[in-house]
Amino acid sequence: GCWPNRGRMEVQGLTVKYTEAGRSVLSDISFSVEGGQSIGLLGRTGSGKSTLLSALLRLASTEGEISIDGVSWSSVSLHTWRKAFGVVPQRVFILTGTFRMNLDPHGGHSDEELWRVAEEVGLKSVIEQFPDKLDFQLEDGGNVLSNGHKQLLCLARSILSKARILLLDEPSAYLDPITLQVLRKTLKHSFSRCTVILSEHRVEPLLECQSFLMIEGSSMKSYDSLQKL
Ligand code: ATP
Ligand code: MG
Repeated sequence: GCWPNRGRMEVQGLTVKYTEAGRSVLSDISFSVEGGQSIGLLGRTGSGKSTLLSALLRLASTEGEISIDGVSWSSVSLHTWRKAFGVVPQRVFILTGTFRMNLDPHGGHSDEELWRVAEEVGLKSVIEQFPDKLDFQLEDGGNVLSNGHKQLLCLARSILSKARILLLDEPSAYLDPITLQVLRKTLKHSFSRCTVILSEHRVEPLLECQSFLMIEGSSMKSYDSLQKL
């Protein structure tokens, strides 16, 4: 099938804890995101932005209901659910394997496509510096790459996997202004029809978002313009 088609996400009564007895980092939050919209996710250090993104991926223990295009997360397999998402984490851990495997885990793309996408995100010249190029083996979480380059690798993987929903966790923390321009262009070019959730500390990187979520003291507020924040 072609689920998800629009990428509309609905979250209802979501509560997230890290331990059974621990406090709720997020408590009974509800919001919805229209398909194809870009949402800015704001909140102070430790407010739970990364926790929310983990919860959407079913990486954290949660109560509540999440659906994408009307399909509940409890009605599909973890694998199917996660395939809907592209993820650029805050701190990236790269799996041991070649650039090719990390870009294209299921081996569905030609080298030509891999190089095209690498070029789009500004990684072509980086990969070319390594012996064996696409066949270069990354180890130890990919520590021969900077965190910013690892984030770009995740972005490239998300383009290739045709993710419908893209989660970006504080890309501006590790990317210089020129690389951020590349990211902005990529969002416009390759993710224009996708639902994008962009987490940031500051408002400035979120200027192109259509609506905003603010986490404050384990609850969440929605805003439809930056002026109201
Ligand atoms: P930052 O802006 O620094 O990235 P954040 O908004 O992403 O912060 P989170 O990383 O989601 O915040 O953390 C929210 C809260 O959850 C914090 O109080 C943190 O200590 C707690 N927390 C995060 N990860 C874990 C974990 N693996 N186990 C226990 N508590 C955690
Ligand atoms: Mg975070």
